[in-house]
Amino acid sequence: MSLMCCCLSSLSQVLRASLRSGIRLQSSSASAVNTAASSAGHTSLGYSFELTEQQKEFQMLARKFAREEIVPAAPAYDRSGEYPFPIIKKAWELGLMNSHIPQEYGGMGLSIFDSCLITEELAYGCTGVQTAIEANSLGQMPVILAGNDAQKKKYLGRMTEEPLMCAYCVTEPGAGSDVAGIKTKAVKMGDEYVINGQKMWITNGGKKLCCYFIGYFLLARTNTDPKCSAGKAFTGFVVEADTPGIQIGRKEMNMGQRCSDTRGITFEDVRIPKENVLVGEGAGFKIAMGAFDNTRPPVAAGATGLAQRALDEATNYALERKTFGKAIAEHQAVSFLLAEMAMKVELARMAYQRSAWEVDQGRRNTYYASIAKAFAGDIANQVATDAVQVFGGNGFNSDYPVEKLMRDAKIYQIYEGTAQIQRLIIAREHLGKYHK
Ligand SMILES: Cc1cc2nc3c(=O)[nH]c(=O)nc-3n(C[C@H](O)[C@H](O)[C@H](O)COP(=O)(O)OP(=O)(O)OC[C@H]3O[C@@H](n4cnc5c(N)ncnc54)[C@H](O)[C@@H]3O)c2cc1C
Repeated sequence: MSLMCCCLSSLSQVLRASLRSGIRLQSSSASAVNTAASSAGHTSLGYSFELTEQQKEFQMLARKFAREEIVPAAPAYDRSGEYPFPIIKKAWELGLMNSHIPQEYGGMGLSIFDSCLITEELAYGCTGVQTAIEANSLGQMPVILAGNDAQKKKYLGRMTEEPLMCAYCVTEPGAGSDVAGIKTKAVKMGDEYVINGQKMWITNGGKKLCCYFIGYFLLARTNTDPKCSAGKAFTGFVVEADTPGIQIGRKEMNMGQRCSDTRGITFEDVRIPKENVLVGEGAGFKIAMGAFDNTRPPVAAGATGLAQRALDEATNYALERKTFGKAIAEHQAVSFLLAEMAMKVELARMAYQRSAWEVDQGRRNTYYASIAKAFAGDIANQVATDAVQVFGGNGFNSDYPVEKLMRDAKIYQIYEGTAQIQRLIIAREHLGKYHK
């Protein structure tokens, strides 16, 4: 093991030990805020932008890992499209993934806020790697939120014992934004459900990616009556990867985040035991949609990490590159562009942190989660495009890092609800406050 890996793993062990001894990382609890405030020399309660010492240490661990392990490997993974399992495995060993799995099921029980701090740092390194890791959180979230004790022990517990991957399997070729339009059917037969249908764009969908693949959260229609409301017509299942009848499509060649693995999956007479239903028949739509309140803040954190990377790359380049006898950063047009980029990154960070903090308080954060996801997704695209501009011709070339960032950024306006769907949600939530 290299010296750097040794340092990372001993830091990770110290942090895990402090968690096991009962010290929580939550920024959200009043005591944590107080501790942070007093350690920073402030005495008042209320808003605090100071992270706790443990949060800073976790952030630093993730930052060190991203810069030393992910950044150097990312261009080659982008070129080959190979699944970055060696990096994912190291992240798992260091406790940088599955961090939100509750402690009673073997996880670290971090808050969404704390998990987001890690996500931002990993995304700085490569959002292809971060998406593969984040898709695990999305696949697990329905079980965390709605699984019974036996389901949590069986599926979440195993993911803390081995570096297992999973997937959230909802979108279909004919229905993405319109989730209620999905056609995959589950028919009850005795003690089993028989699933038939086709899914599309499933991140981490291929069990052949690595020998470590546990399965899918699957949403299927159980009530065939077209008049049945979405809130009652769908059921959520845990589907184990090696269940007969699952056919995995080819790896899709995407514009960006190319090492993240996305596939179509066909279910043909796949038999699922009734024990694998989450909550009960008809509860699936709410579970599938409810997961997003917890996973959109991390998606926004990922977009922020990408935007921060684009800002850093552009700034360093602007300080080096000279035109007309001076560094381009000294041309006001370029420095103002950097200033605009910096403003956007700071605001995107505040948006994801607010949305994560809200859900950690146990409040309904749908409004904040959609604002964060939409805003940070747009910012990532704007800042990455501006970074390409700062690089001039070099920005258009794959020997420099920013063209990858621009390609990688686009998906943040599409997956986990498009930019338009987020605006529909924000408008609905906003207007709802006035109609009351
Ligand atoms: C790389 C990648 C990874 C993904 N990973 C997963 C995954 O792990 N699991 C999973 O289940 N899905 C996943 N998805 C699917 C993703 O969530 C959907 O692609 C997304 O929700 C959009 O659905 P769609 O592609 O069907 O587009 P459509 O729903 O057909 O939308 C097309 C366009 O119309 C707009 N539009 C649609 N309806 C409205 C409306 N009512 N008002 C205004 N505009 C509207 C959309 O914003 C979009 O611009 C992934 C997709 C990609 C590309």
